[in-house]
Amino acid sequence: DPCYPNTGGTVSADADCLFCKIAGGQIPADVVRESEHTLAFRDISPQAPTHVLVIPREHHRDVASLAAAAPGTLAELVREAAAVAAGEGIEAYRLVFNTGSEAGQSVFHVHGHVLGGRAMTWPPG
Ligand code: ADP
Repeated sequence: DPCYPNTGGTVSADADCLFCKIAGGQIPADVVRESEHTLAFRDISPQAPTHVLVIPREHHRDVASLAAAAPGTLAELVREAAAVAAGEGIEAYRLVFNTGSEAGQSVFHVHGHVLGGRAMTWPPG
């Protein structure tokens, strides 16, 4: 399953990838923003009052892969994350890209977590 850790490479869409299915409209999501190359939707298990995921429409396994293959899309994703925060009316937010299983990545289609609306602690758990 290309959403899972052992699969490398970059493909435009993957039939077994949860976030490809959300990007393709085959699985519903609570979409908050759309741009040409990205989609932002609410996390199904929110960890803060605002918890939105921003993904590229195209399948890339992690943020470094996205940076290498499509740096403009990564920049667009970061701009969209800021726009999500602005839309939620929050001035401070955390933008997190878990990279690799040990760091907590469970869906291997890159996603930035936009977390805010409460005070954040450091270091993260
Ligand atoms: P983790 O699951 O450890 O947080 P990730 O950084 O890979 O790892 O984040 C995946 C995120 O996707 C999780 O926050 C999870 O709640 C969220 N998620 C899983 N399935 C869905 C879904 N169908 N719609 C929205 N968010 C989802």
